[in-house]
Amino acid sequence: MTVPPTIGVLALQGDVREHLVALERLGVPTRSVRLAEDLTGLDGLVIPGGESTTIGRLAERFGLLHPLRSALADGLPTLATCAGMILVAGAIVEGDQPLLGALDVVVRRNAFGRQNESFEMDLDVKGLDRPFHGVFIRAPWVEKVGSDVEVLARVGDRPVMVGSGRIVATSFHPELTDDSRIHRLWMEDAGG
Ligand code: GLN
Repeated sequence: MTVPPTIGVLALQGDVREHLVALERLGVPTRSVRLAEDLTGLDGLVIPGGESTTIGRLAERFGLLHPLRSALADGLPTLATCAGMILVAGAIVEGDQPLLGALDVVVRRNAFGRQNESFEMDLDVKGLDRPFHGVFIRAPWVEKVGSDVEVLARVGDRPVMVGSGRIVATSFHPELTDDSRIHRLWMEDAGG
């Protein structure tokens, strides 16, 4: 009998509950992560959408930045959505805020502009046989993709879902629909 993996959700700010619900729908045991010790024994981590500056500063204040950086560098499978995509990036186009530097991409925050602050759109996602309904809220896009990073979905020519090794990042919010296929795809690819 295989023991199901335990997936942590970084629970500092943002749509934590929605990710917990999406994972529980898949029958996956979950844990909220607020302290460094909450990372112990996890099989995967979700970094939710919210406000990346706030999440980054709270992580700094709670002594989580270093432990998160080393857990991701050591290969902890991670699904990072929206603000999460910004946090895992190697760099952002403008501004100065704490980043985890786990994914070799440059990300532009609030990239779709004022006219398109929020929108929804069906996306072709590599690995899914039917389109996925993407909910975008003040979403980032990926401006530059490192050589080991694969683009998994785009809006126009802009990457909005990327993956490298065990890290998958989306500009949109798979936790805000009741479709858990992206969570499942990530867990399968991450070996969970
Ligand atoms: N605009 C937010 C940021 O820069 C991200 C928005 C979101 O997560 N919905 O952090």
